[in-house]
Formats: sequence, C-alpha cells, structure tokens
Amino acid sequence: MTAPRNDLVRRPGEPADLVIRGARLLDPRSDLDAVRDLVVRGGQIAEFAEAGKAPKVPEAEVVEAEGLLALPAFVDPHVHLRTPGDEHEEDLETGTRAAAAGGYGAIVAMANTKPAVDSAAVLGSLRERAERDASIPVGFVANVTRGMAGEELTEMAELRDAGAVGFSDDGLPIASARVLRRALQYQLLAGGVIALHEEDPELSGQGVMHEGEVSAVLGLAGIPAVSESTAIARDCSLALYEGARVHVQHLSARASVEEITRAKQAGVQVTCEATPHHLTLTDEEVRSLDARFKMNPPLRTEDDRQALIDGLRDGTIDCVATDHAPHSLEEKEVPFEQAAMGVTGLETAFAALHTDLVIPGTIGLELLAERMTSGGEPFGIAPPTIAAGAAANVTLIDPELEWVVGEEGYESRSENSCFAGRTLTGRVLMTVAGGQVAFRQRSFAMGVAG
Ligand SMILES: [Zn+2]
Ligand SMILES: [Zn+2]
Repeated sequence: MTAPRNDLVRRPGEPADLVIRGARLLDPRSDLDAVRDLVVRGGQIAEFAEAGKAPKVPEAEVVEAEGLLALPAFVDPHVHLRTPGDEHEEDLETGTRAAAAGGYGAIVAMANTKPAVDSAAVLGSLRERAERDASIPVGFVANVTRGMAGEELTEMAELRDAGAVGFSDDGLPIASARVLRRALQYQLLAGGVIALHEEDPELSGQGVMHEGEVSAVLGLAGIPAVSESTAIARDCSLALYEGARVHVQHLSARASVEEITRAKQAGVQVTCEATPHHLTLTDEEVRSLDARFKMNPPLRTEDDRQALIDGLRDGTIDCVATDHAPHSLEEKEVPFEQAAMGVTGLETAFAALHTDLVIPGTIGLELLAERMTSGGEPFGIAPPTIAAGAAANVTLIDPELEWVVGEEGYESRSENSCFAGRTLTGRVLMTVAGGQVAFRQRSFAMGVAG
C-alpha cells in the first residue's frame, strides 16, 4: 500500500476559528437536521452546541446565522478554469473564487486547456500555480489522449503519480472505440476514473442546438439526442467488457438516462452527472437566439428535462456538475451559429436548482444537498460532512434571499451565464473550504471576536 494520496491542491491560508450561531445544520449523510451552534477550531469542526449555548472561544469569529442554512460545502466534478492559455476568460484565482461564491469547497478542473494537460510537466506547473492562486482545493484531471487528438494515449500511470485525479478529453469525445478500449485497460493499472464527454461527432455534425421542433422552426442545424445516448451505450459496453470504471459527463437526454439505467443494472461501474442548466431549462430558450443558451450538449426538450430530474431523484444521476465554461464576450456576442458553446455556472448552481426545483417541491433540499456534495466521489474525493472532528467544509446560505443574477457582477472573469437577469431565491453568504474561510458575501456582516 502506498501512502494516502493528496491530489487536491490550494494555496496555504489561516485555519478558521468560528462560532456559527443558530443556523439550521443539514447534512443528509449524517442524518443531521437541527438548529445548533457550530464551533470550528483550527479549521476543524469541534462541536455542535445547543443553539445559544456554544462556549466562548477566544479569538473565534462569531457569525450570527439565525434563519440561515449550513450545508456541507459542494463539490463540482466538472469545471473549466481556462488555465493555462485562456486566462483572459478565467484563471485559478477567479475560477476558485467563483466556486467559493457558489458554495463549493472543492472542484475538479478539466484538461482541455492550451496546452492541454497531457504531460506531467503541464500538470506539475498547473498544480504549482494552484498552490499559489487557488482559494479552494482543486483536483486536476489529465488528458486521455495526447493533444486531445483521440489517437495516442498519454502516459496515464505517470500522470496519476503526478497527481491527476482522473482522466478526460472533455470538450471532445473519444471517437475511436479502439482508443477508449486501450485507455480503459491502462486505467485498470493506473487507477483514476475516465470521465467521458459523450457524443458521436458524425451524428452531431455541424449542429448548434438540440435537433427537434425548435431547431426546425429556427432553421438551425441540430444535435440529435442519439448522438449522446449511442456513445454512452458503446462506452458502457466497453467499460463492462474491460471491467473498468467510467464517469459520464453532462447527461442531457432521456435516452441517455435510460442507457445509464440499463448499464447500472448490468453491473457497469459507471457514475454520471447532470448540470443545473439541463435540469432547469429547455430548447425553448433558444428561440431568443441568445448565445447564452448555447452549450454542448445542448438544452433539450421538457421531456428530457423531466427524465433528468427523475434520474437525479432516483440516483441514476449521481451528482450535479456545473460544466462551468467561461467565454469572452467576443466569443458570445456574435450570431448564434458562430458563438462559442458553453455557459458559466459555479455562482448560480445552488440558487438555480433551489429556485426551480426545491421551492416548487419537485425535489427536496436534502436530495439537492446530497447530489451537490457527491461530485468528487468518482474522482476519489470523499464528500464533505458536518461532523465533529471533520475538516470544516461548510456553506452558509440564506435560503430566502432573492437576488438578480449578474446585477452586482460576477466573481468569474466571464459573464456568459444562462441565468443572467433572472431573480433567484437562495444565496450563498459564506463558504468554508478545507478548513479555511474561502468566501464571504460583501453584504454579509462580520461578527466580532468573542
Ligand atoms: Zn463536455
Ligand atoms: Zn465541460
């Protein structure tokens, strides 16, 4: 046995000393749902005391949190930090700050950068930058194929040793079944999950939105749902055949949920994720021809959206992922057909799902908390928990606070949010990530040392 791996990196900081007074503490994994005082000492959860009865902790900051909700900090398995290469769109500092502002305590960064993360040298320098710039712990995936060209495999074992939490060519599918099969064989030796952007490039063609009624009306080339579901079926068969483990990214269609259901029943080691935008929006939004609704996979139909919600509820879909994909204005403020694909999502994920799914009663808050904190598991990152002795990973939320997305700007360097201008209910006020205070909403008053 080797020593426990520590693949997550972040900059050093002060461990938190806090008394969070009177919040509703909710952690579905430990069956915790109670109003308590939460005491954090030296970055660790020290105890929960009956509300109002927390001991005085010298030097600790007191946070008055009556009426607020404290959840385990979220974990996002799918973030594009655009570093190295496109730092004008996002970098490790702005991306992790956006994540912390959304209540995230850890994220997994994708590897479709410039250059791509296909060597231990690129991965090593990225990890060094994260040790300087990242305000929350970040895990990096490395590429499956060199230069993401889909042909030659990277040195997967070496990349694992260099700290890769898994492998992905996200942004592109692995079109060749032969190449993916070889990658799965290497994964059995190297460890680390292979995360898959599932799409048949020949079926997607030049499509710019979901293929259906709306694309027909608009006269835009469509991406059919089967482009995704047939790729999932193929790759789950390969994973089963090789006994390997895969994580399917950003499910968007009913047919895809059905493929995952079948695969799980057949014993495939597969996990999967869905995004807040696919869970709350449909291709009807594209009628506006606003490029903020252009992403890949595309927004699909109401029937697809309902299937995703059912999948999230019954566990077919393991976790929520934002697929946070920052783009510059120049890439988005062009005709729909030419605009870049992708939307930001870190700062709005909880609020969007809380507003559109929890408040109307479609799913419970406990379920949302569970699915937003389990995203690291496919990559070997344990879900955070609110328990005495655990590292403090807590997000403090005002569940009733209404705010207009984008009104006060964004922490992200990019502003291509598909929720821009929407009034959402529920806002993250403070995030403690890996024992350190990583974010505090400007309007949220600080307490005084006790
Ligand atoms: Zn993707
Ligand atoms: Zn992505």
